[in-house]
Amino acid sequence: STGEGIMRSDRGPKNLEQISMGGYMMRGFRLLAPEMPLFAVAILLLLGNSAVRLVLPNFQGAILDGVGKARHSCAPHAPDASQCDEHKQEFYHNVMLYFVFAVATGLISALRQWFFTIVARRIVLHIRERAFASVVTQDIAFFDGMKVGDLQQRLTSDVQRMASPIFSALPTMLSNLVLLFGGLVMCFVTSWRLSMLAFTTVLPIMHITQTYAQWSGKMNREIFQDFADGNAISNETISNVRTVRAVSAEDHELERYGATLAKALSKGVKDATIGSLSTLLSSWLDQGAGVLILWYGGSIAMHPDGNISVGDLIKYQLYYNMMTTSIQQLTGVLNQFTRAAGAAERVLSLMDCKPDIDPFAGAPVDVVVRKWDLKFEHVSFYYQMRPKNIVLRDLSFEVNEGTVCALVGKSGGGKSTIIHLILRYYDPIDGRITLGGVDFTQINPRSVHQRLGVVSQETQLFNATIEENIKYGAPSSVTHEEVEAAAEAAQALKFINGFEDGFATKVGERGQRLSGGQKQRIAIARCLLRKPRLLLLDEATSALDTESESQVQKALDSLIWSGQHTVLLVAHRLSTVVNSNQIYVIDKGTMVEQGNHTQLLERRGVYCALVEHQLQQQREQINE
Ligand code: ADP
Repeated sequence: STGEGIMRSDRGPKNLEQISMGGYMMRGFRLLAPEMPLFAVAILLLLGNSAVRLVLPNFQGAILDGVGKARHSCAPHAPDASQCDEHKQEFYHNVMLYFVFAVATGLISALRQWFFTIVARRIVLHIRERAFASVVTQDIAFFDGMKVGDLQQRLTSDVQRMASPIFSALPTMLSNLVLLFGGLVMCFVTSWRLSMLAFTTVLPIMHITQTYAQWSGKMNREIFQDFADGNAISNETISNVRTVRAVSAEDHELERYGATLAKALSKGVKDATIGSLSTLLSSWLDQGAGVLILWYGGSIAMHPDGNISVGDLIKYQLYYNMMTTSIQQLTGVLNQFTRAAGAAERVLSLMDCKPDIDPFAGAPVDVVVRKWDLKFEHVSFYYQMRPKNIVLRDLSFEVNEGTVCALVGKSGGGKSTIIHLILRYYDPIDGRITLGGVDFTQINPRSVHQRLGVVSQETQLFNATIEENIKYGAPSSVTHEEVEAAAEAAQALKFINGFEDGFATKVGERGQRLSGGQKQRIAIARCLLRKPRLLLLDEATSALDTESESQVQKALDSLIWSGQHTVLLVAHRLSTVVNSNQIYVIDKGTMVEQGNHTQLLERRGVYCALVEHQLQQQREQINE
């Protein structure tokens, strides 16, 4: 089942074992475990209901036979006239019983439905929570290889489809199994002759429906993969709608979207056609059996000494119908199960996917690390999505506690990647990173993150108020005054207070109602509020207008030079670089020079050339 599980680039498919129907059932029952008490009640109600339904035709047959007998014995001059009252009594008695059982079956069936639905709803919630928990704990490499739309489908409609058998297919299956076997036994008990005749058609019907169910299950798995692909396209289009609009790519996206849906539709049409044909065939066979029963059974019942009464014939018809309807329902159910198994495979492979970097593993940093001296020891790295492109090669350097260290070098050299490794988005392929002498992989990533501050070029804001965005990730004890102070230090207070709603201003999805410079200052305030021990910073090169640029720079400077934390930054401004304690010049993933500004200038190497280049640019800008 390629493409249905979670694909992991070079390491190949991860947790892709196809889950068999049996495996799905086992997993299903394990997921059901917390709901067992409710579920058990539901099953008992269901079995009770089937048992009641199984005895109903008996009463129907008995009532009709009672009518026949009474008609006989109550006729004038009937030989058995003495039994007239008795037969009438029997008739009323059976009608009463029929009434009571009919009322009971309705009641039990309603209760059963309620219990199953509640169980199913609770389980959907439970699975969805667990699947989302798995998503948010995956490492970043996982997201490099996944499409958002696909993930969303797994979390929503796939979970729904996976759990749907609980309230529809499962009860239907159980009750129909009871009705099928009960009906079968009752048919043979009522008349084995009729049964032999009728059963010539049952086996072909079963075969046809079963074959179709299997084929259709496979078809529907393919259809849902097409839907997932479509989702991925619509999702990407919606989140990049500005670019789509700007380059007029609407037609292109519509075409891509339409193409995947068209693929799904043509498969759906095929499925519908074959499905209808199979229904037609089985229904002819089924009706044919009905005709046979009435013809043969009727001709026996016509004889006064035939061993089948009219009531028996009716009873037989009812049991026979019960049985064939059960068979039809069961194959429909089989269909639902195969579809659910396909969805389950997609959801379970997501739930089973274990991140290579477990955010919950390792010792808390405060326990094992005293001094926050960060050290790269012969680190090599490539991104799993592009294993041929070695991004860092045998890289060694250190960031001592209390210093400000700058990474400089040409774009694409691997500076941001170094930051990613410190954030534990990825782990080195070779070599190691240590903090206070302890291997990074031994330290709990979450505990490190709590003491980290990050300001990247791409500020990520949430669709919430400015205050909530600044507070994001901070302890809940943070007061409004502290938020305000952070905003002030980040040069953001003025523009925030300029908004009508101030700190309560909603920033829109991904902060789209703010300018780039404003977003960045919010991010800086967020970082200040956390009072990080280690600050990781990617200085913006993105074009900001001069006014907001100078404010962002002021904010950045207050962050970098506060003296309250160790700083490692990707530097673009000369002023930052010049003042840094240590400068590392990175080119094509290797360290080409290191030292402070004066030392590096004296070497007259790469760094010197970079500085001269930047000064030249500044001069040109002034002359313009
Ligand atoms: P810098 O920050 O120095 O500009 P980066 O660390 O961003 O450099 O990039 C280094 C190299 O890694 C580039 O060749 C870039 O294309 C590649 N790269 C960055 N991110 C990814 C990713 N998520 N997947 C694959 N390759 C990546």
